[in-house]
Amino acid sequence: MSEMFKPSDLVFDREHIWHPYTSMHEPLPVYPVVSANGVRLTLDSGQDIIDGMSSWWCAVHGYNHPVLNEAVQKQLKQMSHVMFGGITHKPAIELARLLVDISPEGMEKVFFCDSGSVSVEVAMKMALQYWFTKGNPNKNKFLSIRSGYHGDTFNAMSVCDPVTGMHEIFRGVLPVNYFAESPDCGFYDEWDSHSFQSMQNMIEVHHKELAAIILEPVVQGAGGMKFYHPQYLTELRRACDTYNILLILDEIATGFGRTGKLFACEHADISPDIMCVGKAITGGYLSFAATLTSQKVSDGISTGAPGCFMHGPTFMGNPLACAVGVASINLLLESSCLEKVRNIEQQLIRNLSKAKELKQVKDVRILGAIGVIEMNEPVNMASIQKQFVENGVWVRPFGKLVYIMPPFIISEEDLSFLCKALVKVAAMQ
Ligand SMILES: *Cc1c(COP(=O)(O)O)cnc(C)c1O
Repeated sequence: MSEMFKPSDLVFDREHIWHPYTSMHEPLPVYPVVSANGVRLTLDSGQDIIDGMSSWWCAVHGYNHPVLNEAVQKQLKQMSHVMFGGITHKPAIELARLLVDISPEGMEKVFFCDSGSVSVEVAMKMALQYWFTKGNPNKNKFLSIRSGYHGDTFNAMSVCDPVTGMHEIFRGVLPVNYFAESPDCGFYDEWDSHSFQSMQNMIEVHHKELAAIILEPVVQGAGGMKFYHPQYLTELRRACDTYNILLILDEIATGFGRTGKLFACEHADISPDIMCVGKAITGGYLSFAATLTSQKVSDGISTGAPGCFMHGPTFMGNPLACAVGVASINLLLESSCLEKVRNIEQQLIRNLSKAKELKQVKDVRILGAIGVIEMNEPVNMASIQKQFVENGVWVRPFGKLVYIMPPFIISEEDLSFLCKALVKVAAMQ
């Protein structure tokens, strides 16, 4: 049995531990979790709640999965970590092989990183170093779209939405980059070429100084939970080729099946020059990510001085993370996860669409295993979180967005329970 929480534990937590995006003065309550199994989190009170968040897109196979547990335990007995400088190991080779295999055509070279934000830093650094070694150091700016999210480190922040992405606080320190309008043509809309106009204009004006364009393919996650038309990516790929700009796709949230394709750029059937993956890469077991790139980019970087890519995290290629990554991806491939995602999508459409009729609700959007209820007003986090827990589910909204992205293994019954709670709590706001 897990050890129970003492009241003093929670007092200590309040006084000493930062939680994500949370005040140290007025922290919102945190819910003590003692264990997690399948799609359920067990609270200290003994209550089981159904997880609607996959721990922020990660736990695609649910918690305490026997196959993933075994992969970690087996690797633990071999070695939990060994430096990657001058050394290699089977888990890294196997994971890289799988990533090259399943990723879009042309993604050939794998750089392992510790987290999504780091993989974005690495991607941006690769683009800069590529143009530097190509003798074109003036191509050192990035273009992105509004409502994007790419992580919380500095270069990643510099391409996050300029309003919600903390640019004001760090003005003068953050690199200044360019933003086109967020595509306003929705995933299911008929393609409207006007929605590419802002991007086209920015490219025409700035292409000589652009190292790369970076964006999340199809789904803009933490920046607004919006789904845009895949044709936008087709147009963007063409423009990047025409104007000699690298294309970085941030698949950290969308990768590994979440949108109904293994990678979201497959909706447009394009390949990027550099691609970031993270979050679900280890099935939610360990912090890990990778930056993939093409022969062209790696040749460019490796040909000129200094002749190598100047990056090397201490925990690069961590064997435990690689081993569980291999097991997680194999599970995805074996368990026809895309079919499961399609079933979840169909059920989300059936169970959530009716929320559109609520006066509190502005829009309901569904794509793959992602269901979003956009409210008219920002929700009160403390009270809505409590209502969700009282209704037996774990959902963590932000702003006006109340959304779920459950583990792919969720049963029809549990998903129905989760959706009911979601609609009920939305109606209580
Ligand atoms: C979560 C996320 C990141 C950052 O990943 P971390 O592991 O939190 O650093 C970057 N890009 C996207 C699209 C994400 O969803």
